[in-house]
Amino acid sequence: MIKLFYCCLLALPLRHMVLTSGYGYRVHPVTGQFCFHSGVDLQARHDTLFAVMPGHVAFVGYDRLTGLHIRLASGDFTLLYGHLSQVFVLAGDSVNSYTPLGITGSSGRVTGEHLHFSVSYRQVPVNPLLFLNRLLH
Ligand SMILES: [Zn+2]
Repeated sequence: MIKLFYCCLLALPLRHMVLTSGYGYRVHPVTGQFCFHSGVDLQARHDTLFAVMPGHVAFVGYDRLTGLHIRLASGDFTLLYGHLSQVFVLAGDSVNSYTPLGITGSSGRVTGEHLHFSVSYRQVPVNPLLFLNRLLH
């Protein structure tokens, strides 16, 4: 069980949270293979994404799967925002909850625009919805 010790609150990654693909094993929409989805996919249409909690930008970059993406570090947690079209922050920047980080998009391997959001705790993926649920209650 993960214990969260943050007392101050905390934002959602998007203003409107609509889940389009959950965390866990699934048939991949592009490859058709059964594999582990280490995050959640959230419906998005050129939406602003926000830092969920205070921390710093550990990485901003591009790869062919996750597209343009941001990794935020906050204590033992790492939050990843993928498939972006724009990024407003640089590696090393400090962020607070609600700091706008960028704009969603469809970069990388996708079938359409969405935000891929994942959370790991000490390098181990956790279900982002359970994580957010804990933070918000
Ligand atoms: Zn995803």
